[in-house]
Amino acid sequence: MQILLVEDSATIRHTMSSYIRDAGHEPSAAQSGEEALQMLEHSAFDLIIMDVEMPGLDGFETTRLMREWLGDRWIPIIFATGKTDEKSVEEGIEAGGDDYLNKPVSSIILKAKIRAMERIIDMRNQLNEMYDELERLSQRDGLTKLYNRRTFNELSKQQWAVAKRTHSPISVIMLDIDHFKLFNDHYGHQMGDTCLQQVAEALQKSVRRPTDIVARYGGEEFIVLLPDTDISGARQVGENIRQSIVDLQIPHDKSTTEKVVTASIGVATCTHTTGRSFDNLIEQSDNLLYRSKKEGRNRISYQETDSQKTILVADDDAETLNLLTSQLSSHCNIVTADNGSDCIALAKSISPDLLLLDIEMPDIDGLEVCRQLRSQPETRSIPILLIAEQENAELEATGKEVGANDYLEKPFDERNLIAKINRYMI
Ligand code: GH3
Ligand code: MG
Ligand code: MG
Ligand code: MG
Repeated sequence: MQILLVEDSATIRHTMSSYIRDAGHEPSAAQSGEEALQMLEHSAFDLIIMDVEMPGLDGFETTRLMREWLGDRWIPIIFATGKTDEKSVEEGIEAGGDDYLNKPVSSIILKAKIRAMERIIDMRNQLNEMYDELERLSQRDGLTKLYNRRTFNELSKQQWAVAKRTHSPISVIMLDIDHFKLFNDHYGHQMGDTCLQQVAEALQKSVRRPTDIVARYGGEEFIVLLPDTDISGARQVGENIRQSIVDLQIPHDKSTTEKVVTASIGVATCTHTTGRSFDNLIEQSDNLLYRSKKEGRNRISYQETDSQKTILVADDDAETLNLLTSQLSSHCNIVTADNGSDCIALAKSISPDLLLLDIEMPDIDGLEVCRQLRSQPETRSIPILLIAEQENAELEATGKEVGANDYLEKPFDERNLIAKINRYMI
């Protein structure tokens, strides 16, 4: 241990230094409280032995100042004094001392007290290590040892900020194990847990960059953040992940997809973070994952969003136009039309990535617009979401008939709105 000895008498300093050396420790000596304070600022000590009676700052005052300066950092301080009456002991402990040595100091007692303090220091170090370990564990999921969802959210917010600052693309891969309930039911929860651990390991191995973040997002759902990665890179990683899970060859007799454990994957890339939110990117990857499930599982679906995309909004109601424009303009470009014929003309000339279309408009209504757009080759494949006051079965049937893809129901719920738009705007 590095021991700071504060003592004004040269003789005592000399004697005690040699005792400390004999005990196997390294003494540094200060002749006064002032000097001791300076030394404390510049070197690290494990223990301090402090004379009480000194000219200038006495031992108690020096100790008080040291404690103030050290704050939360604790270094044991032992007083060496001839004054061991009750009052002095009380004052010393009050000032922040931990123990007393009677002067003249015996080498045996000094060694014993140093030893006792050493034990306390060891215990404190162990406790600190345990705290660190706990901290580390609480960032991670107990089963797979991957980051947990909370940590993922924290770390990825930082990466999102970097992407914004550096104008770089960023990708999210969302993954869900296929028919995992059936797996658990058939093989038991224990095997289920082992399977999750194997998948987690495969995932961790599939990413290479130190900034990539892999986490367990929920039960059998995992998430990967790939900073500074464009859609082609993210697709590749997604495909590697999918394949590496198949390669684990974990038998899954009850799966209707494959006879081994597989996963469905959604890959979302954002090329311009400007105006977009991170939650929105996550939601998009979740929608894509859902698409992979619907289209047969054990596959990846991917999408790149670019705030350079264009949505055409057609509605005769100015309030609705304003509302949609304000909610969507941060995601993409918005072009508006307040009647059916303008809408058709615009759809032809700008080829929007998506059309939000009011059903009830005075001149040509939404259904008729839909019919006309579907009948012409250049506008046939524009995704169309009909805006309806209230969705009902009859309306749904008519909408399908004229070729609409889906509905937006008023009043709009922003989350729902963005989710639907992301699903259709490819
Ligand atoms: P899908 O292909 O549509 O994703 O079907 P699924 O059965 O995987 O999806 P579902 O959401 O119905 O079931 C997920 C199952 O995952 C339910 C639960 O038993 C299991 N699961 C979630 N967390 C754990 C876990 O920590 N350990 C184990 N063994 N199973 C888990
Ligand atoms: Mg699930
Ligand atoms: Mg599942
Ligand atoms: Mg209207």
